[in-house]
Amino acid sequence: MILPSRFNPLWTAPEHASSDALWFVFQRGNLLVYNAHDPPMLPLPADATAVVADMGAARFVGMLGDTPCWAARARDGHAPPDHAFENLRMLFNRLPDDLLAIAGRGVQMLEFDRTHRHCGACATPTEIHEGGRSRRCPACGETYYPKVSPAMMVAIKRDGPQGRELLLARSARFARGMYSALAGFVEPSESIEECIRREAFEEVGVKVGNLRYFASQGWPFPNSLMIAYVADYESGEIVPEEGEIEDAQWFSLDALPQLPHRLSIARRLISSVIAEVAPDHPALRV
Ligand SMILES: [Zn+2]
Repeated sequence: MILPSRFNPLWTAPEHASSDALWFVFQRGNLLVYNAHDPPMLPLPADATAVVADMGAARFVGMLGDTPCWAARARDGHAPPDHAFENLRMLFNRLPDDLLAIAGRGVQMLEFDRTHRHCGACATPTEIHEGGRSRRCPACGETYYPKVSPAMMVAIKRDGPQGRELLLARSARFARGMYSALAGFVEPSESIEECIRREAFEEVGVKVGNLRYFASQGWPFPNSLMIAYVADYESGEIVPEEGEIEDAQWFSLDALPQLPHRLSIARRLISSVIAEVAPDHPALRV
């Protein structure tokens, strides 16, 4: 999910901001949408704010052009008539990409507040600090920032007599039939490149080299920064890591499995490796 270029990710609402705001109201991570029509839309401000649990705890998320964007937590209970709380992932392709990306920022800010109400060192209630960027303990001064967890993603490729092949894997959590690039969280003191080599060996038992940076993307499920690379296969037979990887295979470009959603960096990464040798491949037409 990529924040739109006309979005300004501020932490504090500018004075004189328009009252015609976009409201991202969440209940346990699910976004309130008006769904009397398909595709759904964001609720009108009056409908959204009517279910907010605590307006004082609403979070300013930024400006989309001239429109202020707010995130807030809803009271428990049902959504208003013609509205529903929907899982963000289920709104892919149904809500505009721009709004999904802003919702992803908003839900992470609300989660930060929810999970940092008290100081982890001395248990004193924390306070909003630095205009909203952090929370600070008034007793011991410990300061907390929203958690962002770097994770690597790697598309492993090899070029053989059958042409280009991609090493793709699936976890049991994936939708049925879907395969993707490898991914894993960076460990303390590890570089992205070390993480890629370690994870490739742990998850599928292969050694990789010639790592090339592709792109990065924030991913709010729950708070990752995905940093994607392409790597060349060097050695080893595929051995899926038990309990982690349900299956991993080499796929030729004419027999690709179901791939991740077009909004994901995984899909863009895989597409880039396909496009190098097959710019007209049907998988690129999404
Ligand atoms: Zn403290």
